[in-house]
Amino acid sequence: MKALVFHKPKDVRVEEVPDPRIQHVRDAVLRVTAASICGSDLHIYNGYLPQPAPMILGHEFMGVVEEVGPRVSNLRRGDRVVVPFPIACGVCWFCRRDLQTHCEQSNPKHYGPDGSPTQKGGGLFGYTELYGGYAGGQADYVRVPFADYGPRKVPEGLSDERALFLSDIIPTGWSAVEWCGVSGGDTVAVFGCGPVGLMAQRAAWLHGARRVIAVDILPYRLAFAKRLCGSDTVDASRVDPVEAIRQLTAGRGADACIDAVGMEAQHGWLESAKNILTAQVGSIRALRAAIRAARRGGAVCAIGVYGADADFPLGEVFEKGLRLRAGQALPHACIDQLLELVCDGKMRADDIVTHRLPLSEAPRAYRAFNDKLEQCMKVVLRP
Ligand SMILES: [Zn+2]
Ligand SMILES: [Zn+2]
Repeated sequence: MKALVFHKPKDVRVEEVPDPRIQHVRDAVLRVTAASICGSDLHIYNGYLPQPAPMILGHEFMGVVEEVGPRVSNLRRGDRVVVPFPIACGVCWFCRRDLQTHCEQSNPKHYGPDGSPTQKGGGLFGYTELYGGYAGGQADYVRVPFADYGPRKVPEGLSDERALFLSDIIPTGWSAVEWCGVSGGDTVAVFGCGPVGLMAQRAAWLHGARRVIAVDILPYRLAFAKRLCGSDTVDASRVDPVEAIRQLTAGRGADACIDAVGMEAQHGWLESAKNILTAQVGSIRALRAAIRAARRGGAVCAIGVYGADADFPLGEVFEKGLRLRAGQALPHACIDQLLELVCDGKMRADDIVTHRLPLSEAPRAYRAFNDKLEQCMKVVLRP
């Protein structure tokens, strides 16, 4: 089969590789019908998450079941499914408590309780050896472990592009809003207007927000937030976003602030000459701004990926009495509810797709997405 293979930073190629096969009784093999590139793939692409050996990338994909292992009784050949990005067993201590991203069984080599740079949570598709070394779905076919637990059947009539983003960005944006405890009448500020930031803005409205404020440094991304999400926008390349948010909230700050930038602030943005927001304070600039812009007693959520420790404003968090939550989203816990919202047309991400390309053009798509060229917001790859 053909697949997008990471070799070294900035060097990804579409190559002929061996077909995946059933390795365990709970596996399935899917024929991928649509996959996308995620902002967090760029951490590997840019070399900030090390991956020494060639690896097939991609944790956002959907497809048609080609083959199932003998213990997978809920799926059969021909079923269309979308797959949450964390690989989770469904039976361990964490999975039983709806903390599937921390599954104890899916990352045997690097799993650990510490949360240190070498001790990771559960496995992720196509996301380096540290997260289990599983081949990803930017490929013609993909092996799905624990296939009786993760994949969700896609109703007939729901297009690939409507269903695909239930793999990551829709649940991830939703998780951020849930973690902040957003409820009716709240003002929600979202730092970062990439795909996850846009989904967080939509989720905020669905949770009853009175006002949603979107912060970014690139005009085309702010235009997406305004046009597709109905958010007020703040261009952090021109004004201090914290001051702007305070002005919009009678000086108090937002009820909830979501950092949907993460390490991208260090890397994707910092490498661009336009990177004013992040160049000033480095790696946790977006999180710092989110903490500063939150009102006393408010909530802050870091949903963008962070891979390293940093100097952290604990005094400010304490003084303001903030609730803070961070981490990889938990899509298994909300995907069924979100599938219903997608079917009802209340939630969508297909309208942020700017690039639709065959898998063979994936290297070009990576360049466009990474360098924010051609107003690239989201890429769909068709094997
Ligand atoms: Zn993703
Ligand atoms: Zn588990």
